[in-house]
Amino acid sequence: MDLFEPYKTEPYSDFSQESVQSAYRQALEEVRAQLGQDYPLIIGGEKVTPAHGFLESVDPCNTQQIVGRSAKAKRKEVERALTAAWDAYGSWSRLTMSERARTLVKLAAVMRRRKFELAAWETFEASKNYAEAEADVAEAIDFCEYYARQALKLDGPLETYDYPGEENTSFLIPIGVGVVIPPWNFLLAIMVGTAVGPVVVGNTVIVKPSPDTPIIAQKFMECVSEAGFPAGVINLLTGEDADIGDLLVDHPRVRFINFTGSLDTGLRIHERAAKLQPGQKWLKKVYAELGGKDALIVDETAPLDMAADAAVASAFSFQGQKCSALSRLIVVDEVYDGLLERVVERTKNLSLGPAETNADVGAVINQKAVAKTMGYIENGKTEARLVLGGGRGDDAGYFIEPTVFADVPQSASIACEEIFGPVLSVMRARSFDHALELANATVYGLTGGVFSRDRSRLERARREFHVGNLYLNRKITGALVGVQPFGGFNLSGSNAKAGGPDYLRLFMEMKTVSERY
Ligand code: NAD
Repeated sequence: MDLFEPYKTEPYSDFSQESVQSAYRQALEEVRAQLGQDYPLIIGGEKVTPAHGFLESVDPCNTQQIVGRSAKAKRKEVERALTAAWDAYGSWSRLTMSERARTLVKLAAVMRRRKFELAAWETFEASKNYAEAEADVAEAIDFCEYYARQALKLDGPLETYDYPGEENTSFLIPIGVGVVIPPWNFLLAIMVGTAVGPVVVGNTVIVKPSPDTPIIAQKFMECVSEAGFPAGVINLLTGEDADIGDLLVDHPRVRFINFTGSLDTGLRIHERAAKLQPGQKWLKKVYAELGGKDALIVDETAPLDMAADAAVASAFSFQGQKCSALSRLIVVDEVYDGLLERVVERTKNLSLGPAETNADVGAVINQKAVAKTMGYIENGKTEARLVLGGGRGDDAGYFIEPTVFADVPQSASIACEEIFGPVLSVMRARSFDHALELANATVYGLTGGVFSRDRSRLERARREFHVGNLYLNRKITGALVGVQPFGGFNLSGSNAKAGGPDYLRLFMEMKTVSERY
């Protein structure tokens, strides 16, 4: 009999029900009463508060509201965390796979019990509306449940041929201590997935969350502790990138780096981690899942209302701050005007406001994101035709109107560079062939999509649309763990395929033992 019941993804709540909304509002009130507290680092299971000050996490929708303050780590704490993680590695790596897998299933259960509470923290810390926040917590739970089951498959010897007179066995072992560096956008899900994946197969980690979202990391550590992970298996270092980023990446005692974030940071980490440091006795493994410039093609055979619904959901949910978000809508000439009109009409109906009121579009993460997005909007005005938005919302927070540019040429900055905000570029294509050519004309290759009723074009897209995650006749965001393994091509990163069957293998190495009797 299998150890666990079959994997299935975590169900979503129906927020159209008043009772469900009211339960979420209750969770928001409970979390509101806890805002503004101070939190320590967690090293080897101990709470450590060094005298380096605190990172302040603010609510992007109300910048006067402090979500919490998390202690800053520096060099001394980096050393201490590495020692704690290596100490824990000795015994954690020797547990059976099923012992470790059970701890993940327990962690999933703890997070499931706290689902709305964790989601409410996300609403305050990252401006996620109810459905977006809940989906992120659900994904974190899915990573635990899925990787727990996948780990069991990597237990035991691998298949090799016999050789007369010898016993030959090959098996997988963990690799050591790693650093987990997640982004702020899927603040719980990516942090959890990139930590528990390596951990379930016997590695130990230091989690260094984004300085924009340290408090959800604190909540995660509460769940880790309740789930019964031994001290030192998952350590938390919050701090400024300038203080601890390079230190962690360069450190000779770090065996692997599991990074998700922007292209620039990813390239920096990739390069620095490649340099052998004094005392280092391995090649560091680096997994770097990076950005996107994701395109959706709509051809003249497509159902336009469905395509417009999918385009708007893909471009503007969570303010366009998803690596999978639609930023280039490429439309075949014949239906260009009709689709553009439908997209603009639907976008006009989106509400812009605080995430805690469950607005469709909330605030972007910080002032830097405002400056960057508004800079692209200014560029866009000179490169293309602004048809909707382009302005700021309430200045209590980092609000930007959902913005649509039409007639965007391929050479425009808003057609080439990742904006990571609520800005959609609509591009005209002469034909399906031309649309496919435009879609592939990017350095990225993360997600993409096609709306068409033409079978042969859908088949062509399967072969020729060069993205890690291709969606046909549906929205291009919202990959599910274990259902749609996620990761891109080209400069979208190392294609580790989070939530996929090969993921855990990346954090293991194979040992072969031959004995002649
Ligand atoms: P970012 O690159 O600014 O930061 C990512 C992480 O790296 C954060 O924890 C940050 O604190 C850390 N960091 C920054 N400088 C560092 C340094 N010098 N050394 C070590 N760590 C450092 O990215 P972000 O703004 O947090 O996230 C948005 C980006 O992430 C977008 O480009 C998005 O497309 C990408 N992303 C990709 C995926 C994917 O699966 N491919 C998923 C989510 C987000």
